[in-house]
Amino acid sequence: YDAKRTGASVVTFDPARHGDTQGLLSTVAELRHAITAGQLRVHFQPQLHAGDRTLAGVEALVRWQHPVRGLLAPAQFLPLAETHGLMDAVTREVLRQSVAQQALWRRRGLPVRVSVNLSAGTLLDVSLPTTVAALLAHHDVPATSLVLEVTETALLREPERSLAVVEAVRALGVQASIDDFGTGYSSLTQLRQLPVSELKLDRSFTADLLSDPRVAAIVAHTVGLAHALRLRVVAEGVEDEATLAALTGLGCDETQGFLHARPLPAREFEAWYATRYGAVTAAGRSGATTP
Ligand code: C2E
Ligand code: MG
Ligand code: MG
Ligand code: MG
Repeated sequence: YDAKRTGASVVTFDPARHGDTQGLLSTVAELRHAITAGQLRVHFQPQLHAGDRTLAGVEALVRWQHPVRGLLAPAQFLPLAETHGLMDAVTREVLRQSVAQQALWRRRGLPVRVSVNLSAGTLLDVSLPTTVAALLAHHDVPATSLVLEVTETALLREPERSLAVVEAVRALGVQASIDDFGTGYSSLTQLRQLPVSELKLDRSFTADLLSDPRVAAIVAHTVGLAHALRLRVVAEGVEDEATLAALTGLGCDETQGFLHARPLPAREFEAWYATRYGAVTAAGRSGATTP
């Protein structure tokens, strides 16, 4: 039997396809290796108080410093991590680096709040609260200065299990945040029982705010309800002053985006901070607050 003769089987011998398969396998192995070899890097993007532009916190965003392909964005490898069971390992590594970095900053007088993203799968990991508690204790970082960002879609996938995990990290004192709010199907009505302290307004609203009056109405409404539920509102993806002014006018508490800074390696974030607020001293800076 010669497979090359039958049309349906020819594809089995397609060299391009064969090559793809090899490429994918090596990438998965590479990613597995990258996690333990320290190739995952966490960059930090500042979040500023809307009024006085002092530092409110930073969001930790993972990158892969690939030895050949260079710095890879989350979209280039997180889907692979998700489908190959490597997401929990990635999350643990990001959490570890974020809390360790936070401890360093605290020791140098910069007690900055750090937000870490969780994937849907991680929300179902019942050992996560224990891991987080151990990390915070090991690095002597207060739980209240850690925020875990989860998306509405992730929460609603398996609501009972993921809620239990969120409740458990909340019990430690860790804050929870709803990321990309407005892109899922949940309403604030559904979110009222959720133990979260922050709502992140999706970038799509920020982007269309000035051009679409309906978006302004949605943002105003969302901010009002969020505040009634005692949630702070962080607007993401702020790229220009006019949008910042509009978001501030609508009552957003904090803003994050390229206007202030791109996600930066820790050292570059420190340089950005020093330029804006003055050098970090052992005595600390009043601009850096841990709410
Ligand atoms: P996200 O959590 O909503 O993060 C915000 C994304 O918007 C980041 O992209 C950030 O670089 C980008 N961004 C920030 N300001 C602006 C702006 O002004 N304009 C524009 N156009 N974009 C802006 P990034 O770093 O590529 O991350 C993409 C997504 O990957 C994140 O969206 C998050 O869902 C996921 N992600 C990133 N790091 C992690 C991680 O450590 N764990 C998990 N589970 N997911 C992560
Ligand atoms: Mg996020
Ligand atoms: Mg977001
Ligand atoms: Mg987003």
